[in-house]
Amino acid sequence: MQMTDSFRALPSVEELLQNHTLRGYERKVGRAVVLDAVRASLDAARADIRAGRAAPMPALLLDAITERIEQAVRPTLTRVINATGVILHTNLGRAPLSQDALAAIQDAASSYSNLEYDLDAGERGSRYTHAEELIKKLTGAEAALVVNNNAAAVMFVLRAFAENKEVIVSRGQLVEIGGGFRVPDVLSQSGARMVEVGTTNRTRVADFENALTPNTALLLRVHPSNFRVIGFTEEVSLQEMSALGHKHNLVVVDDLGSGALVETSAFGLAHEPMPQESLRAGADLVAFSGDKLLGGPQAGIIVGKKEFVAKLKKHPLARALRVDKLTLAALQATLLHYLKNEAQQKIPVWQMISAKVETLEKRANDWCERWKKFGLEAHVMETNSTVGGGSLPGETLPTRAVALNIFSPDAFVATLRVNSPPILARIENNRVVIDPRTILPHDEHALLEGVERAARLA
Ligand SMILES: *Cc1c(COP(=O)(O)O)cnc(C)c1O
Repeated sequence: MQMTDSFRALPSVEELLQNHTLRGYERKVGRAVVLDAVRASLDAARADIRAGRAAPMPALLLDAITERIEQAVRPTLTRVINATGVILHTNLGRAPLSQDALAAIQDAASSYSNLEYDLDAGERGSRYTHAEELIKKLTGAEAALVVNNNAAAVMFVLRAFAENKEVIVSRGQLVEIGGGFRVPDVLSQSGARMVEVGTTNRTRVADFENALTPNTALLLRVHPSNFRVIGFTEEVSLQEMSALGHKHNLVVVDDLGSGALVETSAFGLAHEPMPQESLRAGADLVAFSGDKLLGGPQAGIIVGKKEFVAKLKKHPLARALRVDKLTLAALQATLLHYLKNEAQQKIPVWQMISAKVETLEKRANDWCERWKKFGLEAHVMETNSTVGGGSLPGETLPTRAVALNIFSPDAFVATLRVNSPPILARIENNRVVIDPRTILPHDEHALLEGVERAARLA
């Protein structure tokens, strides 16, 4: 067939809109979506013909159109199954929330709430009270404030206390967190002037002292969340920094990144700094994340001295950076788990960190047996999970995973990624590895079926 004949073989937009199936879709999703899909599919068909291919058969063209319609009305943000064993996976939304946090969101969002209403006094209240009391109790801080995320928290503190002034920071702490978040950029965006002292591996308190000028406003410590310097190293302790800062009337700020409210070394991991420790060491303000090891919603939590937090609350940026009721509801529920001493039982991140190897092995064995019966070549292997999310660099947790011996592992993980729900797995030594540690119980069934579906397609 000539190319012009192929073009002529394509139905018109009007003809397609009369198609019975597409009229059914039009009633469900509206004319605009169907029309877009029809036009896009015809464009694609014409491009194919121009490239020397034949016009699509009518049934195939219809399939292409309905697939486009389905895709257009499918939300792009969707649950995925994290089989990677990286607990706080930054690309996969970091911390999944606890059941109580989800219920709190549902409760606060499906009705009106007392977000800014004091029910006892019968008058306007503050949204911040809902989290502040809990955070104070858990960290021993005099005051607390919650903003959108920890990056905002750090930027806010620098702006409020050091705009057009100097901030001294050790060269060893000028980190890039990921996603382009670099401490020097945050400093310059905040309007503060960065004064770097020391060297990459060694900084002493004298370095800070020598850099002081009448224009110095703030001493900043940044937790190098995602890397470790080993060997010939020396850093200034927060105690030393605080003593120096207070002698010279400076604000001492600690950016903890993740921070942890429970002792990570109890789980065979290195010690992750805790906000309560930083406050005891003398920091005036400490900032940490809501959705790293805290295991709650995205948020930036600032704790510290009352007068400093009060200044932040009155600052115009507080309004721009404020958190919404969904975040506050989830954060409050998450913090209550810590207060009730049930973080390990109720917060998914801590359930995953504290999962016992025997439990993981049993799950891996069960899945392995099932997949072997299905015809896959599989075995249980010893490997490691990681915490991730800019915390505990280099630290791993021993795990037992299922290793699938697949002819083409790359193609297999690509098929898993387009499963519904998508499954993310890693490849290790040419095997597709499924780590049970990060598979939530309610995702297990979908994982088992998804792997089998991918195997059928392989
Ligand atoms: C992760 C991190 C941040 C940013 O926190 P977000 O909550 O992701 O905005 C800032 N500082 C450090 C040291 C971090 O590790």
